[in-house]
Amino acid sequence: MKTIGLIGGLSWESTASYYRLLNQGVKKHLGGLHSARILLNSLDFAEIEQMQAAGLWHEAAIELGQAALRLERIGADCILICSNTMHKVADEVESLLNVPLLHIADATGAPMQKNGITTAGLIGTRFTMEEDFYRGRLTSRFNLDCIVPEPDDRQIIDRVIFSELCRGIIKDDSRARYRRIVNTLADRGAEAVILGCTEIGLLITAADCQVPLYDTTELHVEQALHFMLRDKLSTH
Ligand code: GLU
Repeated sequence: MKTIGLIGGLSWESTASYYRLLNQGVKKHLGGLHSARILLNSLDFAEIEQMQAAGLWHEAAIELGQAALRLERIGADCILICSNTMHKVADEVESLLNVPLLHIADATGAPMQKNGITTAGLIGTRFTMEEDFYRGRLTSRFNLDCIVPEPDDRQIIDRVIFSELCRGIIKDDSRARYRRIVNTLADRGAEAVILGCTEIGLLITAADCQVPLYDTTELHVEQALHFMLRDKLSTH
């Protein structure tokens, strides 16, 4: 089994999901007492959030790049950044590494394309919804057009992520707001909706929505499991 390097703490609430899902996946595939080989470099999200808010993306890239290099040095066979938003600096981080960086937009776009989806709703932080680093990759690599919520609803989605989900606060009224926003995206033509923030799966699930949901945390973990277990699975 290969060793996965996680850059976590973005926020730790979702890193805990990665840890649990990776171990559940290895157990499912290999059985018995098998568990995932993971190296975790968990950062202080308060510092990263301040850099995001101040637009200090190059500084953030340096911080994540150093975190990734440390993981590589101690034996990680690949690197995952456990946040959609921080993929804004994925290219800079990747350029420092000798091991692959498993990109969360690729983990998401590939199964959507396979399922024939061409128009998807996208919810995530304001950076993920409004900038090109994420949507652009989905379009250029997977022929996927993204519809995002209207500005007021984008503000709600973003506020709930930073003020609630990243702090471990799960509220019924926020779930109801998210459900309404997702269903509005479906009414506007989204064939599916991307949960483009690694904490959103803590708040809503498929049962809340009228179209299929693509949870980026789950898909990123699937991509990692495939990488980790490639040799093992081909012998089964
Ligand atoms: N985990 C989040 C994401 O997937 C938001 C936190 C962050 O800004 O990194 O985008």
